[in-house]
Order: sequence, then C-alpha cells, then structure tokens
Amino acid sequence: MPRELQPCGTPAAYMRHKRHGQDACRVCLDAMSERNRASYAADPERARELARERMRRYSARQRRREATA
Ligand SMILES: [Zn+2]
Repeated sequence: MPRELQPCGTPAAYMRHKRHGQDACRVCLDAMSERNRASYAADPERARELARERMRRYSARQRRREATA
C-alpha cells in the first residue's frame, strides 16, 4: 500500500488537488484559509511581508505583459 493519504480538509489534501490539476474541494479550501489565518495570527509581520512579496511578483508580471503587448 502506498503512503497514507491525508483526508480532505487538510493542507496536504489541498496540495494533492493542485498537483492533480484539480480545483481544491470546499473543505480543503477551508483548511487552507484556516491555516493562512493561523499563520497571520502567529506572525503578522511575516504574513504582511509575504503579502507584499506576492504583490511585487504579480505587478512585475503585469508590467512584462504590458511591455510585450
Ligand atoms: Zn479535498
């Protein structure tokens, strides 16, 4: 038997959906947003930094797209 699979409703199951090219199911989405909320509560400074980083990458991509359009 292959390694045990985490049930839906866990971050591991959320990642499994993504690996299989699926949309995560409702309970997995909830699990991820729950985890994100938890990490924000644990370390708001770090969470803000990650959010800024995501935005920087996003706007860099946008600029490239506009430049090549
Ligand atoms: Zn699921």
